[in-house]
Amino acid sequence: MDGAQFSFFDDGTWSGKIYTGGWVDGSGGADEVTAPADGAHVASIGRATPADLGAAAKAARAAQPAWEATAPADRAAILNKAAEILEANAGELIPWIIRETGSIPPKAGIEIEHSAGFLRAAAEAAQENQTQTLASVDGRGASEELIRVAHGVVGVISPFNFPLILSIRAIAAALATGNAVVHKPDPRTPITGGVMIARAFEDAGLPSGLLHIVPGGADVGAAMCEDPNIAMVSFTGSPEVGAKVGEACGRNLKKVQLELGGKNALIVMDDADIDVAASNAAWGAWLHQGQICMATGLILVPSATAGQLIEALGTKASHLPVGDPAKEECALGPLIVEAEAKRVEGIVEDAVAKGATLHVGGKPNGTLFPATVLSGVKPGMRAFDEEIFGPVAVIAEYDNEDHAVELANMSDFGLVASVIGTDVRRARDLGMRLRVGHLHINDQTVTASPLAPFGGRGRSGNGCRISGPALWEEFTQWVWVTTKPAATPYPF
Ligand code: NAD
Repeated sequence: MDGAQFSFFDDGTWSGKIYTGGWVDGSGGADEVTAPADGAHVASIGRATPADLGAAAKAARAAQPAWEATAPADRAAILNKAAEILEANAGELIPWIIRETGSIPPKAGIEIEHSAGFLRAAAEAAQENQTQTLASVDGRGASEELIRVAHGVVGVISPFNFPLILSIRAIAAALATGNAVVHKPDPRTPITGGVMIARAFEDAGLPSGLLHIVPGGADVGAAMCEDPNIAMVSFTGSPEVGAKVGEACGRNLKKVQLELGGKNALIVMDDADIDVAASNAAWGAWLHQGQICMATGLILVPSATAGQLIEALGTKASHLPVGDPAKEECALGPLIVEAEAKRVEGIVEDAVAKGATLHVGGKPNGTLFPATVLSGVKPGMRAFDEEIFGPVAVIAEYDNEDHAVELANMSDFGLVASVIGTDVRRARDLGMRLRVGHLHINDQTVTASPLAPFGGRGRSGNGCRISGPALWEEFTQWVWVTTKPAATPYPF
C-alpha cells in the first residue's frame, strides 16, 4: 500500500503484473483496481489475455507430473505453510481486503481465517490413502487396485464477493490432490482473489509452474474452457455465466464444477424466539451487504408472529450504519459497483409496486445501500423470485408448515435453508422436506466448513461439491489397475 515499508505484501513486487512463472507483465497491459466505496485507486494489476492463459496452461501441464509424484507429506507441508503465511500477515492483508472488496473488518478477518482453514483441511486430505484393493472376479490371478489420479491442470474462476476463500478452496483442493492450477480471479477483486494467494504460495515454497494467476475478463475465462491443456474447470459465480462455462466445457469434454447462486429460505417456526430469529435473519440477510451466495434471501414467518419479526428487523436495520469500512466504523460497506445498487433498488421498487411494504431502507447512495426490510413479499415479485445479492430482508408469511415448505421450494435455486424453532425435531423434519444442499437447524444460512461438501441443487450448481469428501471426488479420477504376475495367452 502507498507509503508502506517493504513487507510480505509490498506492491512493488506485484503492481501491474500477472503471476505466471514469477511476476511478469500481462500482454493486456495493466488495469486499475478501485475501491467500491469511493472509486479511489487501490492498485494496478496486470491484465492477462487469452494468449497468456494458453501459455500458463502449457507451463502448468509441464510442471504437474513432478508435483503429483511429490510425497503427499511434502505437498501438505507447503499447503500448511501457505496457511501460516496468510495468518501471520493478516494485519497487513486485512486493510487491502477492506479497501478492495468493501468488506467490514470482521468479514475481512473471516476471509483469512477460513482460507487458512481450507488450506489446512486440504493438507490433511493430501495425506489420505485413497487407493482401494478390489477382489479379482475372473479368476485370472490379477491383483486389482483403484488409484485416484489428478486431472492434470485445473482452471479456477472465482467471483468478487469472498474472493480469497472462494479462490483458495478450489486451488488448495487441486494442489493437494496433485494438480497444477491456472486461476482467473474476478477483475474487480484480483488482489484479494489472486495476488494474496500467489504471494502466500510463493513464500511457502510451491515449485514454479504449478500456480498461475491470470487476472482478466470474460475472454480469459472463456479461453480457459477451450484450452486443451486444462482438464477441469472449477467455477464459482452467477448461474448465467455458469451456464456458459458449463456449455463450453461440455463441448470440449472437460470436467466442470459449477458453484452458482442461491435464494436461501430461513423458516421461523411458530414456537421460535422471535428476537433470536430476527438476529439470525439480520446476519444472514445483511452480512457483506447480502453479497453472499448463502445469504438469507427469503424469511418465512407464520402470519401470527410476522408483525413482531418485522418490528425487530426494522429496529435492527435502522441502527446499522452504512459507510466506507476503510474510513469509519460501519456494519455495512458498499456494494461492488453502483450498477448493482441500482439493480437492487429496482428489485425493491418492483416489490412495492406489486403490493409489498417497505419498512426501512431501499434507497442507495452511490454504492452504499442501507439494510432494508420488505414484508408482504409474494411469488411474482422479483424480491421473491430472484437472488438479490444486496442487503434486503425479504419477509413472506405462511399459513402452515406445508405452505412454508411450498414457498421455500418454489425457488429454482437449492443451496441453503435454515429453520429456527424450539422443537428441534419438528424443525428438522420440516427442513428435510426442503430441496437444498445445506440445511441448518437453529442457525442462519451463511455457514461453511472446510470439512463439509459445499454445493447446492437445481440452479445453484451442477451437483458437484467442493471440500470435505468432495475434495478427492472432484479433483481426481479413478484409474483401475490390474497386475498379473505374468501375461497369459488368449484364444486368438
Ligand atoms: P459472475 O458470474 O459475473 O463472475 C464470476 C467469474 O466469472 C468472474 O471471474 C468473471 O470474470 C468470470 N466470467 C464472466 N464471464 C465469463 C465467461 N463468459 N466465461 C468464463 N468466465 C467468465 O459472478 P459475480 O456477479 O461476480 O458473482 C456473483 C454470483 O456468484 C452470484 O450469483 C452468487 O450467488 C455466486 N456465488 C456462488 C457461490 C457458491 O459457492 N455457490 C459463492 C459466491 C458467489
